[in-house]
Amino acid sequence: MASEFELIDRYFRKEAPSALLGVGDDCALLKVKDTLAVSTDMLVAGTHFFPDDDAYLLGRKSLAVNLSDMAAMGGKPKWATLALALPCADESWLKAFSRGFLEIASEYGVDLVGGDTTRGPLAICVQIMGEVQDPLRRDGARTGDDIWVSGTLGNAALGLSHLQGKLMLEEEDAMHCLASLRNPVPRVGLGLALSRISRCAIDISDGFCADLSHILEASKVAARVNFEDLPASSVLEKYRDRPEGRRAFLSGGDDYELCFTSPEAKRMEVEEIGRRLGLRLSRVGKIISGSGLVLLDGKGAVIEMGEKGYDHFR
Ligand code: ADP
Ligand code: MG
Repeated sequence: MASEFELIDRYFRKEAPSALLGVGDDCALLKVKDTLAVSTDMLVAGTHFFPDDDAYLLGRKSLAVNLSDMAAMGGKPKWATLALALPCADESWLKAFSRGFLEIASEYGVDLVGGDTTRGPLAICVQIMGEVQDPLRRDGARTGDDIWVSGTLGNAALGLSHLQGKLMLEEEDAMHCLASLRNPVPRVGLGLALSRISRCAIDISDGFCADLSHILEASKVAARVNFEDLPASSVLEKYRDRPEGRRAFLSGGDDYELCFTSPEAKRMEVEEIGRRLGLRLSRVGKIISGSGLVLLDGKGAVIEMGEKGYDHFR
């Protein structure tokens, strides 16, 4: 059986042109020009994915969720480290996993520069590092800003409900939603473009209401959001008025779209970015003074979210 070092050599040692020194020594050596942005996300079998999930897609997703954090900060991703706990040295799993991981790394210009490999219950911990000039911070929202959302909301959560048997999607809809769940697209280009005109963003990993609330708390402001302006996918349209659909829409995680705010004066520029990237950008509400999130229906009436607030939908 291959040793730990052989496995690392075989599957994870790659040229890292952007590093002074990559995989193979006690530390990687990196030269930074701008502010260094650093983030870590851990995926644990049984909690964040099913142990028998496709290894190639898991390789992609484990880096994608980290790239999404970098996108939400307006950073340019450059380097990653990968710590793996594996129950056994399953080479076909490692081969597929590393293929997915290194493929998305190269798509986004990221070099894998180090990590750790150990025996244990299956867990994947990735650290992403990048450079940021004008960060998009959660505390950057200002009264009067527009609130925007990229892409559509809820597909990943619908896919998960389908897998859990809570909802039976038609075959084509299921394929669509499972692709969102298993192979999310990090909005790196959007984050970079926004960093020039906006000050505030978050990636939607815990659900729209929860993640927008993180912005509101950090920025000490409130929000008014028009339910009808929230971007539903064609699949979600069919389920929007059912509890499971509404929950996916407002509180479903794993979409990895960006929620951001920007001054009204920048509306045209935001729209131009959407056109250039071929990405739907929806203006869904406004930042106002005060605290908390108010959802309005099509007639401008407040949608009651119950005592538990948005947790109600979880
Ligand atoms: P150390 O004994 O210094 O902890 P290791 O034996 O754990 O070193 O790792 C040897 C080299 O391989 C190091 O450069 C480390 O960063 C790299 N490495 C280990 N596991 C991985 C992995 N899963 N992906 C990328 N690099 C890895
Ligand atoms: Mg080690």
